[in-house]
Amino acid sequence: MSLRKRGRGTRAKSARGEEWDELHDEAARERRRARPSEQIDALRHLFDDPALAGVDLAAAAVVISVTSARCRVFHDGRELDCIVPPEIAARQKSALAVGDRVLFDDALRISAILPRRSVLSRPDPLNPHLQRLIAANIDVVANVVSTKSPPLRPRLIDRFLIAIQRGGAAPLIVVNKIDLDRDLTPLRVYEELGVPVIGCSTKSGEGLDALRAAVSGKTSALVGHSGVGKSSILNALDERLQIATGDLHRRGTGRHTTTSSTLHDLGGGTLIVDTPGIRELGLWDLTPRTLRESFPEFDEAAELCRFNDCTHLHEPACEAKQRVERGELSRARYDTYVRLMEDLSCEKR
Ligand code: GDP
Ligand code: ZN
Repeated sequence: MSLRKRGRGTRAKSARGEEWDELHDEAARERRRARPSEQIDALRHLFDDPALAGVDLAAAAVVISVTSARCRVFHDGRELDCIVPPEIAARQKSALAVGDRVLFDDALRISAILPRRSVLSRPDPLNPHLQRLIAANIDVVANVVSTKSPPLRPRLIDRFLIAIQRGGAAPLIVVNKIDLDRDLTPLRVYEELGVPVIGCSTKSGEGLDALRAAVSGKTSALVGHSGVGKSSILNALDERLQIATGDLHRRGTGRHTTTSSTLHDLGGGTLIVDTPGIRELGLWDLTPRTLRESFPEFDEAAELCRFNDCTHLHEPACEAKQRVERGELSRARYDTYVRLMEDLSCEKR
């Protein structure tokens, strides 16, 4: 997916090339009602790994949760517990993630992780050189936010959008708790960038149909700050789930809210990954170039900056900065950009 430049209908070049964009749109349409195994078939030509030649990809299982040495998978209508041999992570240069398509042997040992068509990842908070996958093979990542309680955190939204775009999924912003605050103007800037924004309330039920339509037949992940209502939304989308929400937590039942990602099958080909709430999101593998690509709304101004390699930070006669001053570009977005650029230059030193 790619963010649109402000005020223009044109799509910026995708991080993964045009083929991916095309395939993504087409496959998403085709997959509306597809089973996970059919989804793999639809994407078979992406799997050019010779190790997979002759493998029956339709027989792959879907990972629904992961613990250190085991994982739970969904396969052929059943849930199974599998062993994750340590060499798998080493051989495939990455740990198993929820949403992964895997092959397993008769002893229920995972034997291969199939190539991923998208990921959502972050650096390990303790070891920033290690990539941690939040989910794999998702079509849509819904960043759930609330504007009042907890308050809106635009910088976290900007970071999620970068991580989503870099990982190859399509972004969606879900503004929950609109029963408390109906003003969605702070989110308009994202709509202008081509990111769909859906307002909803699990208390009043408003907007839930629109949300249901947006995730129907797809694999989605719900991400966001804790307390915004991710668990409540999942329960509202499928009452059978009965996921513990913040209410239970506070009542001291001893049940913990989400601590690791889990994939839920809502039926009809709709899969949703519930992820732990986070306060901060580090960005994996960000460079000044990819950071600039993540703010396509600055591109048009950049052509008028005095220096053609203007970073829009300290240069004189910077059109981007002037447009921010004039209120033509979002100051909040610009501030995120500056912070991220500064973080990158600190890392280099
Ligand atoms: P999570 O941490 O993102 O999974 O959030 P939870 O689903 O646990 O919800 C956090 C708190 O927000 C709980 O007290 C919920 O009852 C409350 N909540 C969830 N959805 C809504 C909503 O639409 N409106 C209001 N007013 N409160 C909500
Ligand atoms: Zn500039």
